[in-house]
Amino acid sequence: MSDRYSQFASSAPGRFLVGRLGLPNPVPLRRHRQGDPVIDGAVLLGGAPGGRLAEPVGKLLRSMGVDVRAEQPTGARPAALVFDASGIADSGQLGELHAFFNPVLRSLARSGRVVVLGIAPQDCAQPRQATAQRALEGFVRSVGKEVGGGGTASLVYVAPGVEDAVESTLRFLLSPKSAFVSGQVVRIGPGMVDAPADWERPLAGKVALVTGASRGIGEAIAEVLSRDGAHVVCLDVPAQGADLSALANRIGGSALQLDITAADAPTRLATHLRERHGGVDVVVHNAGVTRDKKLANMRAEQWDLVLEVNLSAQERIDDALLAEGLLNPGGRVVSVSSISGIAGNVGQTNYATSKAGVIGMVQSMAPVLAAKDVTINAVAPGFIETAMTAAVPLVTREVGRRMNSLAQGGLPVDVAETIAWFANPASGGVAGNVVRVCGQSLIGA
Ligand code: NAD
Repeated sequence: MSDRYSQFASSAPGRFLVGRLGLPNPVPLRRHRQGDPVIDGAVLLGGAPGGRLAEPVGKLLRSMGVDVRAEQPTGARPAALVFDASGIADSGQLGELHAFFNPVLRSLARSGRVVVLGIAPQDCAQPRQATAQRALEGFVRSVGKEVGGGGTASLVYVAPGVEDAVESTLRFLLSPKSAFVSGQVVRIGPGMVDAPADWERPLAGKVALVTGASRGIGEAIAEVLSRDGAHVVCLDVPAQGADLSALANRIGGSALQLDITAADAPTRLATHLRERHGGVDVVVHNAGVTRDKKLANMRAEQWDLVLEVNLSAQERIDDALLAEGLLNPGGRVVSVSSISGIAGNVGQTNYATSKAGVIGMVQSMAPVLAAKDVTINAVAPGFIETAMTAAVPLVTREVGRRMNSLAQGGLPVDVAETIAWFANPASGGVAGNVVRVCGQSLIGA
């Protein structure tokens, strides 16, 4: 869908007017192309005294071929600023953030990355340490709003003893794959980490199921998981059969026509996965519908359909796959929530209830699945340029698009890349996370 304002703002007269009038300034975001390095430019790495992450992270980045510097490179803009805040044990030491970032933030390259590493407050031994570590959230969320130029900022809490589990997350957050992810807090804990032999095809030999795959975000998810090496079982309703087959053919996957709300859907799906593939490695619950009406005007069918498709059908499918032992060890379940599920929205009591339920499902199922070496996470997209958002009335659409730190809508591929990071075999420590793909939207922030 064309974003005429973004096109205008990146023209010469547009840049002049945007600057003069203080209008939203969407800069074209860099996106990943197959074969690109993780990051194009040097990473400036610093840390507070006593931190435990700077050293292993520096080693890891170097092993990935990244140019890691302890001092600002002369004559070049760093592509990322990475700061190990794990040594901060008291609010009095938070000045270390200012000392590191103040002199260098202005020199960060376009589409630059800020990543702060810390310890989740619940993993801290002392209240003062937990307080100081919690403070990092406010810092990162503000930097995300200040950084400009298509840059992003993220906070990664790394549990003690899992320093080796951060690679897939750093690869994602430092690269253009995370173009529309900013102001987010990621938690890495214990879990089975299986570094792929080839980071260009981390899902080689894996089977992935994507529901609602025939168009929009689901189509992009299927394409990205296939690019990463998976055989993708593309599922959608029979009415979408033609588009579904075209996609499956294009990506060398298979098509499965199924309404996930049908009473026999879990059994039919389980049978298909068992007989054709002997199980499944990645399950992406993307199928979703809206039936917007204010609650006072909403019919019961409108409520029921949205709750069924967006939440209850997913629970029944997961139960069936688990009961039959079809989720392979190292498996990944990813569900698509929404910022409406976080913030609520007028006319969307049904949708927001279902999408908040998805977050509840992630939180309640994470420990259950961890016992089987399976992770569950969710993405919560904000304004993504799809047929769904193209149908939104102009003024609402413009407001939705601009009300985020990047002043533009995201693309389906931004959601897909985030899901591919969760799906990576090296992301075993990334569980129970809900990551917004919203350009740091003000909605629900
Ligand atoms: P879309 O309407 O283009 O695609 C949804 C797909 O789900 C369709 O192909 C549809 O046929 C399929 N589907 C619906 N009911 C089904 C059923 N019963 N069984 C099987 N398949 C079914 O929507 P989209 O914009 O691509 O959204 C994808 C997901 O992302 C949804 O869960 C949506 O709620 C969520 N989301 C989208 C946005 C956005 O800005 N587009 C924002 C937040 C969340």
